[in-house]
Amino acid sequence: MTQTNIKNPISVTFRNLLILLITGTTIVTLTQCTSPQSGDMNSGAGSTYSNGEADAMERSYLSFGDIMEMTYPFELAPLPYAPDALEPAIDTQTMNIHHGKHHQGYINKLNAALEPHAELHGMTLAELNAGWNSMPAEVQSAVRNHGGGTLNHYIFWNVMSPDPTAPSEALMNMIDRDFGSFDAMAEEFASAASTVFGSGWAWLVLDDEGKLHIRATANQDNPLSDGLTPLMGVDVWEHAYYLNYQNRRGDYLGAFLGLIDWAMVEANYTAASES
Ligand code: MN
Repeated sequence: MTQTNIKNPISVTFRNLLILLITGTTIVTLTQCTSPQSGDMNSGAGSTYSNGEADAMERSYLSFGDIMEMTYPFELAPLPYAPDALEPAIDTQTMNIHHGKHHQGYINKLNAALEPHAELHGMTLAELNAGWNSMPAEVQSAVRNHGGGTLNHYIFWNVMSPDPTAPSEALMNMIDRDFGSFDAMAEEFASAASTVFGSGWAWLVLDDEGKLHIRATANQDNPLSDGLTPLMGVDVWEHAYYLNYQNRRGDYLGAFLGLIDWAMVEANYTAASES
């Protein structure tokens, strides 16, 4: 937590990316328990972990479809890993407050807003996010803000792992095709996340022609409302990092990029492409 990188947060990002790429091959070979299949919590018994010990096995990742197809009444699913599993990149207190208070709060407020609108109860979380602006006026802002908050945090938990993986050759080829290189994609992502003014998110998204892009959104807005499908995203609200990083958003972004399970991002891509 030094102060030396405040003026150049991107350098921290690339240092972490370099570490990820250098160690990526080893990480992939060691990682046997990052299956995106829900209900598969025990399939990796005996695998090697760098941290988290036994509780690292208590993982219950939601699939992309699980998240997108949630319907009213919405419930807070457990984190896919122990709250201390992402230490030191994301501290336990931040994880507990972020999940148990903030994410729960969005869910509670979304449910409260939808409760008197039975005609909206059959809509999926993805449909609510894509279509809030055609809903009754009195629920638009609640669905926009709290529907976004509900969905966005599920994607955020989903793409992080105590055992991050490097992109597969297939995913790397798509990234090269659409950004020129992995580093160029990561630089655009970090720049988008760094320059969100106030609170918001940065995303790796898929358009309806199968092309990848980087986008930033304000507040709890989600790319679905612009016709783009979010595959990976980072929360840059101060509540996501302030306890550990204070004003050093760049350091937090560097740490986040080192937590990404690119196998999960690819699983999200596959699910989004098939839907
Ligand atoms: Mn948040």
